[in-house]
Amino acid sequence: MKQEIVRNAMAIIQQRKREAEAEYDKKMAPLFCDEEYIQTYKTYTNLQIENARKLAYGESPDEKSEQQALDKIERMKIKYGLGGEKINYSCKKCNDEGYKNGQMCTCLKKEISRQILKNSGFEELKDFEVEIKTSGDLAPVYKKMQEWCNSDFKKNLIYIAGPIGVGKTYLIRCMANELIKRGKIIKMVSAPYMSIEFKEFTKYQDTEIIKKYIECEILFIDDLGTETMFKNSTLENIYFVLNERKIRKLPTIITSNLDLNDLKKTYEERIYSRIVDRNTSITIYLDGHDKRIKK
Ligand SMILES: [Zn+2]
Repeated sequence: MKQEIVRNAMAIIQQRKREAEAEYDKKMAPLFCDEEYIQTYKTYTNLQIENARKLAYGESPDEKSEQQALDKIERMKIKYGLGGEKINYSCKKCNDEGYKNGQMCTCLKKEISRQILKNSGFEELKDFEVEIKTSGDLAPVYKKMQEWCNSDFKKNLIYIAGPIGVGKTYLIRCMANELIKRGKIIKMVSAPYMSIEFKEFTKYQDTEIIKKYIECEILFIDDLGTETMFKNSTLENIYFVLNERKIRKLPTIITSNLDLNDLKKTYEERIYSRIVDRNTSITIYLDGHDKRIKK
């Protein structure tokens, strides 16, 4: 998944490079039809090669002729209204190579983030810094989750509960943003959608469906508790996904309208205990009045 995203991002950077160069070639086309220009250009490149050879053999290079040829090239460009024309690369740092001095350029990093977001299921992201400043009572919760996003995920299940409209969505949008900044591959799915997919999965044994939930680096399950429960499917597969992810130590973030009591009533014990585990989970309850964090 990650390799595919880097490959796609790199393809976009390369496309930009090709477009910039094609644009340049188009502008320069009249020059390349001018016989005098072609000859001058040939002379210039031959002089360059010859001077490099001379330098290598300790002879004195003919720098004057080389400079004269270059000056003539520039004069002809100006004649065609192309003075000082350069290839207009999108990224001036790496000339749309994606890498500079063996390091990933910021343009490629940005494109990777964009690709992760595109594949994540999130339509919008929020900024922790902004939310921490403006969220009043919620600030400690935002702070804690920002820390978690930058941690090594020892606690790898986050359960965010609370009624509609208390800011669960804002919170996970901030988390998604922070995780994408770290280059983490995230995926968000709503519990109702997942439940329907699981039903199909049982029917057709389509391993790709279950694999994408088990293997993705960080999974957000939104609105747990609002899904339709299909017999012999929903509960079994939710448990399977949560358990597999726990074994693989992959972080899962769940939002729900159900507080812990309702969670216990709605789901079987083995699912409840996967979600609420002292050692591996963080439970957050947002109720619009007081915001409690339980470890
Ligand atoms: Zn760049």
